[in-house]
Amino acid sequence: LRRFSVALAHHPVLDRQSAVVTTAITNIDLHDIARSARCFGAERFFVTHPVAAQRQLAERVKEHWTEGSGARRIPDRKPAMENLHVVPDLDTAMRVLGSEVQLWTSSAGKLPIPRLPLAEARDLLRGEGPPVLLVLGTGWGLADAVHERASYCLAPIESPSADGYNHLSVRAAAAILLDRLLGVR
Ligand code: SAM
Repeated sequence: LRRFSVALAHHPVLDRQSAVVTTAITNIDLHDIARSARCFGAERFFVTHPVAAQRQLAERVKEHWTEGSGARRIPDRKPAMENLHVVPDLDTAMRVLGSEVQLWTSSAGKLPIPRLPLAEARDLLRGEGPPVLLVLGTGWGLADAVHERASYCLAPIESPSADGYNHLSVRAAAAILLDRLLGVR
């Protein structure tokens, strides 16, 4: 199995008008994605934010669950939150993982680049190769600049609903993608 980590990016991401923006950290994203990442065996869960005060907030949440009263009250959360790494940007996360690391991006929407079917991505992870960093977006999704750097953009999780409604939270999308890529079959 290849080394595999997850990143939640707060910049550069899109807003409703497709402008490139920075989003605020959401407490529940940290918890839920950290737990999913830990369950499915991801090595690290990176949260990227360019604003120091937002990184400090995320670090305080991590500390509460790894060293503070949260760690004593609900010890199940500790191993998940210990794998959370708060960094300014994706480049820092990539440096931690080594120069060979491949970025894999995710998006619900249509993109002018080829998409890698999830079954093929699962097979690739089971072969030999460099470490993978799966990038999830916030807001209205990752900016093109992130997809342009990626080795692969994963195929979207499709909706079977008749009207095509397909608006997953990033937390739900993370859990589904992790199960499709690394879950027991
Ligand atoms: N319209 C945005 C897009 O196309 O990515 C939705 C953004 S969604 C609120 C936030 C993040 O969740 C996305 O950047 C992506 O990482 C993930 N995500 C949400 N729905 C997804 C789907 N159907 N397939 C793959 N990833 C999805």
